[in-house]
Formats: sequence, C-alpha cells, structure tokens
Amino acid sequence: MATEAILQRLITNPERLKDLVDKAKDVALQSGMVIRTKEKPNSSEVVTYYPFSLFPTPVPKAAFLQALAVQTHFNTLVDKISQDPDFLEEALASTIQADDFTAKLFDIYRHVQQEGRTQPIVVGLLRSDYMLDQGECRTSSLKQIEINTISVAGFGVIDRVPEVHRYLRTCNSVFIIGLTLFNQGNCVLTLVKTWELYVSHLLSAKNNFLSLCRNIPVIRRKFEDVSRRGSLDDDKKLFVCVCIYFYSCETFSLMFWEIGFIRSLAVKLPDIGTQLAGTKKVQQVLSKPGVLEKFFPDQPRVVERIRATFAGLYTLDMGLEGDKTVEMALAAPDQFVLKPQREGGGNNIYGSDICQVLQQVKESTERTAYILMDKIQPTPVQNYMLRRDFPLQISNCDSELGVFGVYVRQGKDTVMNECVGHLLRTKSSEVSEGGLTTGICVVDSPLLL
Ligand code: ADP
Ligand code: MG
Ligand code: MG
Repeated sequence: MATEAILQRLITNPERLKDLVDKAKDVALQSGMVIRTKEKPNSSEVVTYYPFSLFPTPVPKAAFLQALAVQTHFNTLVDKISQDPDFLEEALASTIQADDFTAKLFDIYRHVQQEGRTQPIVVGLLRSDYMLDQGECRTSSLKQIEINTISVAGFGVIDRVPEVHRYLRTCNSVFIIGLTLFNQGNCVLTLVKTWELYVSHLLSAKNNFLSLCRNIPVIRRKFEDVSRRGSLDDDKKLFVCVCIYFYSCETFSLMFWEIGFIRSLAVKLPDIGTQLAGTKKVQQVLSKPGVLEKFFPDQPRVVERIRATFAGLYTLDMGLEGDKTVEMALAAPDQFVLKPQREGGGNNIYGSDICQVLQQVKESTERTAYILMDKIQPTPVQNYMLRRDFPLQISNCDSELGVFGVYVRQGKDTVMNECVGHLLRTKSSEVSEGGLTTGICVVDSPLLL
C-alpha cells in the first residue's frame, strides 16, 4: 500500500495512530534508539527515545546509489585538500581576513606546517550531506549541502531506525520498509586500524604487541577532562588518549592551544587541514571551473561524478564577481542561502534576513566571511515526527541524506578508503534547518523507489 494511503487511513483513525505510535516508541526503546534527556543531559538514569519519523521517506534509488558511489572520491578529495597548503591558503585568503574563527584555525594549520607533523597517521570520518532538488524542472537531482569533517553526528543510531520501520510493517497493513545500509562495525574498524597503525608506529621493533590490539582499551573522556588532566611525555605521547574525536569547533581550538596537543602523537580526528578542507568557503572554491581538475588531473570521470552533485555556489569576495553575487541575492533572496563558516546548524541566513545582512556588509570585507548558495527545493513528503514534548501531528517534511565516508592514511599510503553507510534526517518543511541533537529534526530511513 502506498504511504499516502496509509497516512490517510491513520489521519482519520486517531486510535489506530496512537496505537501505532506507542508500538513504534516501544520498539525504538527496545532496539537501543535512546538518548539522554535535555533536563538531565549527564544522567544515565533517565533516557528517552531518539526522535524518529513514523514512516520511512521515499528516496529515488538512483540518487541514493549516486550518493554512495561518489563518497570514496569525496574522501580522496578532502584528504588531498588537507595536504595542500597552497590551495588552502589561496582558497581561504579572503575568509581569514573577515572571520576570526577560520583565521584561528588557519593559524594552527600554519603552525603545524612550520613545525612539521609529529603524527603521520591521518583518519577521516566524513559525512557528505545531500538534498534532492526538485525545483523548477521537477526532476530529482542529488545536490550536496555540505561535507562535514567535524561534528559528524548520527553514527550508531541510524542502523536502528529501519528496525523500527520494519516492525511497523508487521502492524497490519503497513508494508513499507526502510533500508539499512549503515555498518557501524566499519566505523569501529577504522578506529581499530588507526590504533594498530599508531601502535606499530610507536614500536620500532615489531613484536607480538599488535596481536593483542584487538583488546583495545577504550576510555571515554570529556574534552574538559583531557584539557585538565592530559599531559605529554618526552616522546610526545599524549597521556589519556590515542585518538581524539572532536565534536565541536570550540573544543577543537581550545584543545590545540591548551595542552600542547598540536605537538602530541595523538591521532586527531579531524586533523587541522581536514577541518579546513570542510569549510563552506572551500566548498565554494571547489565549484569554480578547473579546480576539481587540479585534484584529479587524469580522472575526468571522477571530476564529473563529484561536480554532478554541486549546487550553485557563489563567492562574496571583494571585486566584480562578489558584487554580482550581492546583486543576485538582493534581487531574489528566497532562491538562496547565505552561509558563514560555522558548523552544527542554526547559523545560515535565509529570505529577507539575507537582504538585511548583505545591506550591512556589502561594501566591506566583512562580506567575505560568507558564501552564497542556491537554495535546494525538495518536494515535501507527509510524515509524523515522533519527538518527546511535541504534539503528534502530520507534517510536511524535507529530508537530508548523509553519507558516511572513512579513510586512514599513514604518510603517503592510504590504507583504507570506504563508504560506510548513510543517515537520513527529516525535518518540517516550515523550519529552515535543525540539528538532530536539538530535537528539530528526526532520524529516518530511506524507502528506495
Ligand atoms: P551546518 O554545518 O551548520 O550543518 P549546513 O550547510 O549543513 O551547515 O546547513 C544547515 C542546514 O541548513 C542543512 O541541514 C539544511 O537543512 C539547510 N540548508 C543548508 N544549505 C541549504 C541549501 N543550499 N538549500 C536548502 N537548505 C539548506
Ligand atoms: Mg556542517
Ligand atoms: Mg549540515
């Protein structure tokens, strides 16, 4: 039965809807789709279900496969950019004049370049996000929203969603099944690989230690704790951790400066070049003619595949081209999104606010802190979003498909480069954006068409 027909039956039968929702929440809790509450964010005694959609969302199979297929190329691209100081310097030159945060990160990058790397192992854990643009011509085309190299949320939850959606299939006439392709094990293997490389790097004489590595001790530490208690020994080993995963940009810069972390042997995830490669400004520069070709000189097919996912991206650098961008945005603000160099949701500017901001900054270099992007126009799909403390109601929803990529490199040798799964996030079409952790969007699973 088509999803719309099921929805129509549920809308007119509130008792059946409530029953289905209660069952769905039960299955979510049973399958471990849980999250701590906002009232007691540090308590393990009180948890609730992770916000999720009642139904999977239809996604064209071709677009889904396209997103998976291009991921290892994006891994390679990000890794190449992170190792190219000339490119990063040129791409970010105007941004670092206007944006303190990017300037600070770039400073750290320069520092690392000057001092030389202590740790040759590089790990990438990326999520490339897409929406289906169904604007004027009504055909679905996969368009990249951004690549995340930091704040990559969603690991560990997404593979549980299809279980819930599958369960609902058994509830009478609901026969729709979400798809799971995420393999959490692959992400863990990436970290295992990193650990093995780290250990073999430390031990000049190889011994049996590696065979013990599967017994990897895992310690979870908050950034504040590492900051407070972490220390470097004479060999630059950072006591407390081998592999550090940065969750937010703030912790990133804090950690770097506070404990000489920059010089430690710890494997940083992401390393500083990789974080810069994930900035919105780099994304915009990559869309300029000839830039992708520089990174893939003999691989026109790879360039084509990557470029096919790019939406229109426009510079706001000082000069004629940037002036044109300002004019274009002011004339039709609803067609665009104005983006600063930030992560984690809630920072972009839309609609009439674009005009307000651009009017203020258009004559100064302040405008170079932003880039402009075509607004992707997905066709809304009706669904129920199950979120604690929100009334249950049918909503028009937009979805964003994230594809996870992992890679490990030691010096010049790439020892792993894989696409390891996907995450579908769904939000009400009425809100411009929302994060998983803020409860504005919910996890979902794709129903391939
Ligand atoms: P962040 O790094 O803060 O997540 P994003 O570029 O992903 O920044 O933007 C945040 C959200 O804004 C996205 O998840 C999406 O919902 C919305 N968004 C971003 N860019 C576009 C776009 N070009 N068209 C439509 N929506 C967008
Ligand atoms: Mg981001
Ligand atoms: Mg995002």
